[in-house]
Amino acid sequence: MGRLLMKPTTTPKTYRVKSFGCQMNVYDGERMGELLEAQGITPAPEGEDADLVVLNTCHIREKATEKVYSDIGRLVKSGEEAGKKPMIAVAGCVAQAEGEEIMARAPAVGMVVGPQAYHRLGDMVKDAAAGRRGTDTDMPEDAKFAALPARRKVAATAFLTVQEGCDKFCTYCVVPYTRGAEISRPYSDLLREAEKLVEAGARELTLLGQNVNAWSGENDKGRAIGLDGLIRALAALPDLHRIRYTTSHPNDMTEGLIAAHGEVEKLMPYLHLPVQSGSDRVLKAMNRSHTAESYLKLLDRFRAVRPDIALSGDFIVGFPGETEAEFEETLALVDEVKYAAAFSFKYSPRPGTPAASMDGQIAPQVMDERLQRLQAALNRHQLAFNEASVGKTCTVLIERKGKHPGQWLGKSPWLQSVFFEGDCAMGDLVEVELVQAGPNSLAGQLVTKVPA
Ligand code: SAM
Ligand code: SF4
Repeated sequence: MGRLLMKPTTTPKTYRVKSFGCQMNVYDGERMGELLEAQGITPAPEGEDADLVVLNTCHIREKATEKVYSDIGRLVKSGEEAGKKPMIAVAGCVAQAEGEEIMARAPAVGMVVGPQAYHRLGDMVKDAAAGRRGTDTDMPEDAKFAALPARRKVAATAFLTVQEGCDKFCTYCVVPYTRGAEISRPYSDLLREAEKLVEAGARELTLLGQNVNAWSGENDKGRAIGLDGLIRALAALPDLHRIRYTTSHPNDMTEGLIAAHGEVEKLMPYLHLPVQSGSDRVLKAMNRSHTAESYLKLLDRFRAVRPDIALSGDFIVGFPGETEAEFEETLALVDEVKYAAAFSFKYSPRPGTPAASMDGQIAPQVMDERLQRLQAALNRHQLAFNEASVGKTCTVLIERKGKHPGQWLGKSPWLQSVFFEGDCAMGDLVEVELVQAGPNSLAGQLVTKVPA
């Protein structure tokens, strides 16, 4: 932990957390907000500058660091224009990877706090207000969660981080370095947090982890359980209606979790299972330790217990050495799986990862062209999946108001966005007939409200 002196600033009254990247960062951002509120710092009203801005950064792909510096510059400039000096905190994975450098390069930053140390944010804010800048990028095991305040009022859907870190060391990925080794949060803590979230209004929980299906623990009877056991325990909460989980790794998939998809009604028919590439040579070079075939067989087992399951994945194009023929194997896999949704990225060399120094780095224009072709295929399948849903009546959980008066936006069981009109409220579960499909959403007609 480094300490440097700066000019004293006043204690902030308002805050804003700007989260980039994955859902785990969104969860961390919410928890940082709760922590600041416990200290009497309130969310800045929409459209107003905040006294304290937390940049909750992501390091997974290129330009992340440059983005942080440009955000800092923008905050300083708008502060100057308003005659104010905002307190700036840099959190998340860029903070973990490049904290010292940020402190040296950006004097406007009052504190740098890594993803495993943000329970200390409140103290660091007090220090910064007293003129002491601070860096905390320690990785103590699981200290953070115990030190965070209780959950506050939440929306109809909420995230619950159950597992953190990664021991897989895919050769392109920075996560094992920024988030540390795999840990599972204890069962009893998770049940308690889930109960609080449900009491506060959550009707759907998404369990989060870098490798969420690697979660393991002991239930209240001292029995060793996996993620399926945790899901079954959460499903017993009467006011919790839906459970999802993300992101899984093919190698951590268990018989029990597959079976749960056929047996636990509250577990939604959606699986996000990244594959990255359809080429076995590329998968080996990525250190993924699964093949295209073993991945496809795994999906078949999910389809056997839950035939309507919506499948989603992550893809990287232009990994070092990827040939045109190998890229076409990815396209073939996409056509075979027919994903309902997907995330696709150009390979981005991450400092310190093995792939960054591999031979055969791919030219940017080749990556652009491959990404376009891959996304065209993925979009085609997504539209086809949505079109095949037209005519179905399904339960939609309302998440927010739509753009037009009387319009609502919610999610189908298959995580599709559904727009419809009706006399409803946020958090309602309603029966909607799906009448029209677009690539990213569906239009529906309200049939009836589901009794709570
Ligand atoms: N643990 C999860 C897994 O293995 O699928 C996801 C973690 S990562 C935050 C999310 C996605 O970012 C990965 O699945 C991968 O597609 C992408 N990604 C990670 N490192 C990348 C890199 N260096 N360049 C491009 N995409 C990357
Ligand atoms: Fe990164 Fe691979 Fe771990 Fe996912 S499994 S977080 S891609 S190292």
